[in-house]
Amino acid sequence: MRGLRLTRPRRLILEAVRDTDVHPTAAFVYRRVRRRLPRVSLATVYRNLRVLAAEGVLAERADAGGLRFDGNAEPHDHFTCIGCGRIHDVPVRRGRAVRARLAAQTGFEVLNHRTEYFGRCGDCRRQGGRPSPKGQRRS
Ligand SMILES: [Zn+2]
Ligand SMILES: [Zn+2]
Repeated sequence: MRGLRLTRPRRLILEAVRDTDVHPTAAFVYRRVRRRLPRVSLATVYRNLRVLAAEGVLAERADAGGLRFDGNAEPHDHFTCIGCGRIHDVPVRRGRAVRARLAAQTGFEVLNHRTEYFGRCGDCRRQGGRPSPKGQRRS
């Protein structure tokens, strides 16, 4: 961790992110950390999340819901459920062919890429319903 000082708040913040797979927002982490550190502020949590992300200990990602943090700092793709909004990790495929194709088409030197998947998770599929329901019963 390259000499990053892990103060108690920082350690609790890191644990809070790593203990969940929901890719939490700063507000979510704040609520978790506050249980054990009642006097911590949202600003402190936010600042430390950014520091941990800058150090590569956490990953951060921006989406429509704002900034989210990821305890999994390894490269990986995400699946976002349009039903419940949960973000799931997807094992990364070695996408060299994709990068090579793009490089050939554009002349860009492509160093990295990320794929975002969207759809419905298992829970939402079991609860039925399709993105555009036709003749679907309502209760
Ligand atoms: Zn879902
Ligand atoms: Zn992730």
